[in-house]
Amino acid sequence: MILITKDEIQTRTKQLAQQINFDYKRREVVIVGILKGSFMFMGDLLKHLTFDVVVDFIQAESYEGEDSTGNVVLKHELTTNIKGKHVLIIEDILDTGQTLSNISVYLSVYDPLSVKIVVLLDKPSRRIAQIKADYTGFKIENKFVYGYGLDYKQKYRNLPDIHTLEYLV
Ligand code: 5GP
Ligand code: MG
Repeated sequence: MILITKDEIQTRTKQLAQQINFDYKRREVVIVGILKGSFMFMGDLLKHLTFDVVVDFIQAESYEGEDSTGNVVLKHELTTNIKGKHVLIIEDILDTGQTLSNISVYLSVYDPLSVKIVVLLDKPSRRIAQIKADYTGFKIENKFVYGYGLDYKQKYRNLPDIHTLEYLV
């Protein structure tokens, strides 16, 4: 079942970009995408950003199948020097919060000027770690979602809408 349509995603992404453009004005920002799930959202969001960006990626894994293991493993590390820079993390979904809280600690070691978080989706009812996004696309119920970059067993990332798992056969 479609939970959020591609048009709703695009409209909300433009709104988020407007707010981010307003907040950062003409500052240079290092955008750190969390692979793999955020790649589609990141691409769409960045098209609407009007300040200078440097793009980098981190790969973190905590999920196996449909559930979070709580163990966050970095599979690809930062390649940009973020010391003294504004950093904006782009993530697909904030669930238990363990991934983003681990990544925030990891990034803070490199002494950035600021770190903010953008998430497309937020499942507040699942939170374990004390972490909040600065910009949130949609708050959703505690349902497993896939599509628009998010996988179910590594597939369906290419779907343009966001689906809930319940009707997947
Ligand atoms: P957290 O560490 O906040 O529990 O988990 C965050 C990560 O788990 C996200 O980056 C995402 O990769 C994955 N995740 C959490 N919920 C879902 C979901 O409903 N669907 C998919 N495909 N991945 C999810
Ligand atoms: Mg992820």
